[in-house]
Amino acid sequence: MSPRREVISAAVDPAGPVDAADHPLDPVADLPEEAFEAGLRPRRLGDFVGQGALREHLQIVLEAARRREQPVDHLLFAGPPGLGKTTLAGIVATEMGAGFRVTSGPALGRGGDLAAILTGLQTGDVLFIDEIHRLNRAVEEILYPAMEDFQIDIVIGKGPTARSVRLDLPRFTLVGATTRTGLVTGPLRDRFGFVSRLEHYTSPELELIVRRTSQLLGVECTEDGAVEIARRSRGTPRLAIRLLRRVRDFVEVRGKGVITLEAAREGCAIFGVDELGLDRLDRRILETLCIGFGGRPVGLTTLAVSVGEEPETLEDVYEPFLLQAGLVIRTPRGRVPAPRAWLHLGLEEPASAGPAEGGAPAGEAPQERLFGPLA
Ligand code: ADP
Repeated sequence: MSPRREVISAAVDPAGPVDAADHPLDPVADLPEEAFEAGLRPRRLGDFVGQGALREHLQIVLEAARRREQPVDHLLFAGPPGLGKTTLAGIVATEMGAGFRVTSGPALGRGGDLAAILTGLQTGDVLFIDEIHRLNRAVEEILYPAMEDFQIDIVIGKGPTARSVRLDLPRFTLVGATTRTGLVTGPLRDRFGFVSRLEHYTSPELELIVRRTSQLLGVECTEDGAVEIARRSRGTPRLAIRLLRRVRDFVEVRGKGVITLEAAREGCAIFGVDELGLDRLDRRILETLCIGFGGRPVGLTTLAVSVGEEPETLEDVYEPFLLQAGLVIRTPRGRVPAPRAWLHLGLEEPASAGPAEGGAPAGEAPQERLFGPLA
């Protein structure tokens, strides 16, 4: 009998799904996307591409647990969305022949929600909590003894007759995922036996993922077609897969059904993804920094308001790639565009950028100049 795999409650972003037309490369999955992805996820560690060091460490941790015939230590995976944290959690369950249950920090509003899940676990089960940094304090405190001693305290009754009962839990493995290691509290982080950060993928790694996924989707993709999609996927498997699906739509409707280099280029252009893999919002961020603020340092909140996004989304979802791609630099006084950003936008970098942070954008009617061509 195959182990149970169950989604208790999916990760839901309270801000709602991002408009897919404006952000074809938003790496946060919405619910239909998650359902689709579930069928594409590698199930075994050997099928998981990239993250060499992490994979090797995990292999040792899993093997050691198997030899001891004990559940794996609690694991925490950190890193930007779409890099494979959920996939790895599922792999841990499969490799251990254990049940897999999925929930998320925001979905566990009350202590009772978590207690119900914990008491329903079976020995060895892997419980995956996505966005674990968003657990509220009361819920987090229930998790401490559950992780450490496999026990929880439940309060029965109300007022003066209320009493606390300690329940034993089966030994389970908690796998936490976070896009923000800095927001995971010290006491929670300390209770994980293994903490690891996922890095963006290289183009050859993404190319492998594109080729594997195109086979699963039954669409023919030439080698240079796969290279082109990989190159524009911002180091993120979820985006590579999403871009592949969009290009597949494109070749089915307008092409010959085969993803060639040309088709990949045209398809990406139609969906607003440029040669560096930037979408409209990325470019709007760069234009705000370069044109709107003339290259002077800009605070996160000011930048977020200027591009019409939440500061948190900007910091978690968009900024990591712009920083890594050497397009944006974070300074103590704010974000500034790197020389590559000016080059990418076809603009000339001014000799010196002014010192103001969050001040008025340079030039006349900058917002009009900025958003005019983008509308
Ligand atoms: P996260 O939980 O970090 O947001 P997911 O695990 O949901 O990311 O991965 C998003 C998609 O990318 C899934 O469809 C998954 O199959 C694919 N994926 C992620 N990492 C890899 C990898 N290393 N190899 C193959 N596919 C991957």
